[in-house]
Amino acid sequence: MNSLDNIVSLCKRRGFIFPGSDVYGGMAGTWDFGPLGVMLKKNLMDAWWKFFVEDRDDMYGIDAAIIMNPRTWVASGHTATFADPLVECKECKSRFRADKIAKDINESVTTDEFLETHTKCPNCGKENWGPIRKFNMMFSTHVGAVLPDDNEELANKNIAYLRPETAQGIFVNYKNVVDTFYPDLPFGLAQQGKAFRNEISPRDFILRDRECSQMEIEYFVAPETWSENFELMRSLQHEFLEEILSLPKDKIHELEVPEADRAHYSKRTIDFMFDYPNGEEELMGLAYRTDFDLQNIARESGKSMEYRDKTTNETFVPHVIEPSIGVERLFLAILSSAYTEDEINGEKRVVLKLPENLAPYRFCVSPLLKNKPELVEKAREVYEKLKQKYGNITWDDSGNIGKRYRKQDEIGTPKCIVIDFETLENHTVTIRDRDTTEQIREDIANL
Ligand SMILES: [Zn+2]
Repeated sequence: MNSLDNIVSLCKRRGFIFPGSDVYGGMAGTWDFGPLGVMLKKNLMDAWWKFFVEDRDDMYGIDAAIIMNPRTWVASGHTATFADPLVECKECKSRFRADKIAKDINESVTTDEFLETHTKCPNCGKENWGPIRKFNMMFSTHVGAVLPDDNEELANKNIAYLRPETAQGIFVNYKNVVDTFYPDLPFGLAQQGKAFRNEISPRDFILRDRECSQMEIEYFVAPETWSENFELMRSLQHEFLEEILSLPKDKIHELEVPEADRAHYSKRTIDFMFDYPNGEEELMGLAYRTDFDLQNIARESGKSMEYRDKTTNETFVPHVIEPSIGVERLFLAILSSAYTEDEINGEKRVVLKLPENLAPYRFCVSPLLKNKPELVEKAREVYEKLKQKYGNITWDDSGNIGKRYRKQDEIGTPKCIVIDFETLENHTVTIRDRDTTEQIREDIANL
């Protein structure tokens, strides 16, 4: 079964993802990527960077600091509105996000509206709720030397936040890039990096964690062209998800977000939903943010965010289209699409059918028998040659050949190359295909 439990278990068993700080009993809402997870994650982040930045002439990359001037979050509205409705059960003291445990309500739910839903406490089953309170999800910290006995005023003056989104790191650099590169509109600024959200109840493995990686683009356009550029970004997202990452088209659904549910800054948003093992969940978002952010920055900083058109000399504040992907959500979408169970010769097999461009290892090289020095020596020679050519390949001489195949199937290695006695005679090797388990012989020179 392609269940979330099976995927979580495979991730831990094979070293893709471990619970955060596992040795100390974990840390809620955090996960650590192991050796194979890092390779898969890096492959998909590199694929995004190549597709959206390197292969295009209208994109620039940046990498901004995680801790930003706190005025950033006043201007962006996060200080005032980046909050979830928190409700506490008076019986068992458990705390929940009201809009996640009651049906048909959204984040702006009032206490009365929530009570009318007659929701029972998911923990104790009773219905005895306190009032709804707004809980700001930004992680705060102190910057510089602040001691526990310092006065409150000094402590407040030094408060800063771990960024709740990477987008603002882009917006605060818009003017720097315009003044140094003089890009024509439309142009985009792209960034990959960590973002932090103090989720009330992190859950669903890496789908709702407190620390995540984002890949975001702010695409700056002339205001009257927003609609066509929105469509351009929309089709690019589909191409990236379906062609580059090979995610199944029938598992991706567009959801036009109604005005009441849209983020405070957006005039149009499409959520790209994905059929995860536990049901449909958001994979990524595409939002038309208007000139909301640049106008806010202009107001808060007192600096002009206007763009001067080189041919008409006209000045205006550009509008913005924002495609935003959570790396962990994408990672789980890829894993859950790749996870397959089948039967080979009456034996159950787990296989990760990862696309070749994402798999942690492209090939596994092994000698048929570990105790035959002539086979091991030849296999090492082939391994070194392929390692130089492809980089991400692995060596495996543990157990018997059947066990090695099972292991490579589970971590998604597309091809296994085996050096046997025939290799010593005619320089051919066996290449075994992960998905079909078929084997062919190929000359070493053609690898
Ligand atoms: Zn309760």
